Amino acid sequence: MNVINNYFSIQEYIKNIKLSNIKIISVSKTFKEEKILPLLNNGNIHFGENKVQEAQNKWPFLKKRFPNVKLHMIGKLQSNKAKKAIEIFDYIHSLDNQKLADVLSKEQNATGKKIKYFIQVNVGMESQKSGIQKELLSDFYSYCTNEKNLDVIGLMVIPPNDGNEEKYFKYICEANASLGLKEISIGMSSDYKVALKYKATFLRIGSLIFGSRI
Ligand SMILES: *Cc1c(COP(=O)(O)O)cnc(C)c1O
Repeated sequence: MNVINNYFSIQEYIKNIKLSNIKIISVSKTFKEEKILPLLNNGNIHFGENKVQEAQNKWPFLKKRFPNVKLHMIGKLQSNKAKKAIEIFDYIHSLDNQKLADVLSKEQNATGKKIKYFIQVNVGMESQKSGIQKELLSDFYSYCTNEKNLDVIGLMVIPPNDGNEEKYFKYICEANASLGLKEISIGMSSDYKVALKYKATFLRIGSLIFGSRI
């Protein structure tokens, strides 16, 4: 399993369908440094983790060594971990409630660090899933940007595993456009080709690059 070849074949696919400016986030959760190093040595910039604690254990040293790296928080974020998240991450994809927006805004102002945000939307209306409900999206977006001064660059979705990802991607692509946002965080190992049809700009790819997680 060669992570560089795996990464290149995704890049090659994107090139062949003539898309540019697509960012591949290598989702390195559960994987150790030695698995990640080939990509870092190759000059890759975007990496994703889903737990604050794991990122804190793994990335401070690597970020020192590779200062261009941008680290993406793609997992659920509890507001009591917001401060630590801001220290280590450059992008947060899971902004989905007011309390979290309040704390992030406060902590970010205290540090002066510039973080970019995606608002996560619960497109499948699944009660147990993260993400803001569709009906609340537009108000929540105004709240985050106008009242909390958060730099929201796009929407993020984890589609339900029901075979209808195309429908959810279409919805999010339209919602993104209606808010005038430029970036869309959709597309994982199993559905990134579909996501690219719906204007994905940040793909979050784990197992296709690193192999299966145990
Ligand atoms: C783990 C994870 C991914 C990557 O999943 P793969 O199927 O391994 O590509 C993408 N997005 C989120 C939010 C994740 O937690």
